[in-house]
Amino acid sequence: MKTMSCKQLGGACEKSFQAETFEEIEELSKKHGMEMFQKGDTAHLKAMEEIRAMMQQPGAIQSWMEERRAAFEALPED
Ligand SMILES: [Zn+2]
Repeated sequence: MKTMSCKQLGGACEKSFQAETFEEIEELSKKHGMEMFQKGDTAHLKAMEEIRAMMQQPGAIQSWMEERRAAFEALPED
């Protein structure tokens, strides 16, 4: 298992997620992001806006995701 925080995954808080793969951890962070979005948490709304802005630029979100994936792969196992 590896651990990454919401912040490390492009979010806005220190909540940590644990998963075996990057896909799993991405899913956990997405779910958490949606919960925070529904609560109207401004810090998370802002983080989501930044991601949405990246989606407007060709290739930006892909390279950002690759960076997140590389950070996950570089982490030591818990
Ligand atoms: Zn968070």
